[in-house]
Amino acid sequence: MLKAVKISEEYPAPYEYIDAASIEVNTDLFRTIPIDLMKTVGILPFTYKDKTLSAAISDEADDSNIDILRRYVDAKTDIQVFVSSKAGISQRLEQISEDILTVDAIVSEIEKANTKQIESPIIRLMDTIIWDAVRDRSSDLHFEPERSYVRVRSRIDGVLHQKYTIPSKHWSLISNRIKIFAGMDIADTMSIQEGRFDLKINDLSIDFRVAIMPTVSGENIVIRILHKSRDKFESLAALGFNDFALQEVLKMCQRPEGMILVTGPTGSGKTTTIYSMMKQVSGISNNVMSLEDPVEYSMDLVRQISISEEKGIDFASGVRGLLRQDPDVIFIGEIRDRETSAVGFRAAMTGHQVFSTLHCNDVFGALPRLSDLGVSRETASGNVIGIIAQRLVRRLCPYCKETRDASHQELQLIRKHSSGNFREKSSISVASANGCSMCSNTGFSGRTVIAEVLRFSHRLDELIAGNAVLSEIKEQAHADGFSFMIKDGIEKVLALETTFEELGRVLDLTR
Ligand SMILES: [Zn+2]
Repeated sequence: MLKAVKISEEYPAPYEYIDAASIEVNTDLFRTIPIDLMKTVGILPFTYKDKTLSAAISDEADDSNIDILRRYVDAKTDIQVFVSSKAGISQRLEQISEDILTVDAIVSEIEKANTKQIESPIIRLMDTIIWDAVRDRSSDLHFEPERSYVRVRSRIDGVLHQKYTIPSKHWSLISNRIKIFAGMDIADTMSIQEGRFDLKINDLSIDFRVAIMPTVSGENIVIRILHKSRDKFESLAALGFNDFALQEVLKMCQRPEGMILVTGPTGSGKTTTIYSMMKQVSGISNNVMSLEDPVEYSMDLVRQISISEEKGIDFASGVRGLLRQDPDVIFIGEIRDRETSAVGFRAAMTGHQVFSTLHCNDVFGALPRLSDLGVSRETASGNVIGIIAQRLVRRLCPYCKETRDASHQELQLIRKHSSGNFREKSSISVASANGCSMCSNTGFSGRTVIAEVLRFSHRLDELIAGNAVLSEIKEQAHADGFSFMIKDGIEKVLALETTFEELGRVLDLTR
């Protein structure tokens, strides 16, 4: 019997030796663990039992590579490490990848199959496409029927990537398969439908929400992928706030009453930031309640309520209900009408800490937006604790990023917005994205926040209440230490965390 050394923070070496050729490998593991990546890092994962993943690492690989494997398992999973010869591991991985079918191979099998044989490859095709998306860390999987083919794309870190094309003639079989999985009506191809299913593998539980929209070329299907056990709520610092912004946000969280607003377009990470702030303030001694449209992730110690048209719970009526539940902290998913803003501000004025989101581009845009929603300057000045505006940019993959000299235009932007002393420098290095097996060939891995934070100081409160013009308010904000989001972005470009192209995707750099 083999005795393995359990991995600890210090990676106690040497590990027990195991002969790669004799290992029995559970190939199901490669549904969630990318085999090409394992070839790059020299690791052969082989069994999963009792919350423990056993894996052999090449005797020539760096054992910190085990952390890369850790990304693909539940946070509570232990990894039992063995060591094996480099040649033995790569040979086994090659053998296994020959048995793992690609989407293209299954599609050609479907092409050749007669109607009786077609069901099994269709099932395998769906399976392969879904697990590919899970391995790629996709958040959404799109099936888009065109005239002669169906395009499959997936969204990774907020950006769509084309994955495959499948001949249209097979689309009805595939879409039926998805509908059966998601508990939908397969006979109905003309309506908007919603459904869901979940899959559990090696303690990793994944939730799939399916939405169907009939288009002129057939049913368009989007599957949202939610990693319930893998995604954890990051601390505010881990989200990517710079030091000044982080300190301001933490000070805002310490104020027991008033409104904290987060602004930005859809997909800018507003809710994640609010979740992290709620995590910061929640505890056994206070009551945190949220009203969301809908609740996507459950949080400990937070009573979460979903907006529901059927049950007659909208934001305004929901807040009224929440206020009768003795809350200390309330999260209102979004303030989008006068009624919600009125009840939200009433809550903020009566001793509650209220978090919410607003649809506008920057912190100064929030002031006119609030007056559109019926909030007077006087009410805003006394009751808004602060406003955060943010975007998400993709973080460069550390394994494949390359550096280059900034262009003339980029140098001008750096000189205009950055506080560093770049005037004398004739060349500055910036990074560009590449692509490798570590990042599913996207060049990026994860995202970071770029933000501007405006905490209402006494002087700012006075100016706002006194109906000061915007330029005066901005001047005071800068005097208090405020800086624009673009500066934060450019500093992250200069720190080689992201690229100018990525910044241009979320911000207008031409202004
Ligand atoms: Zn990479």
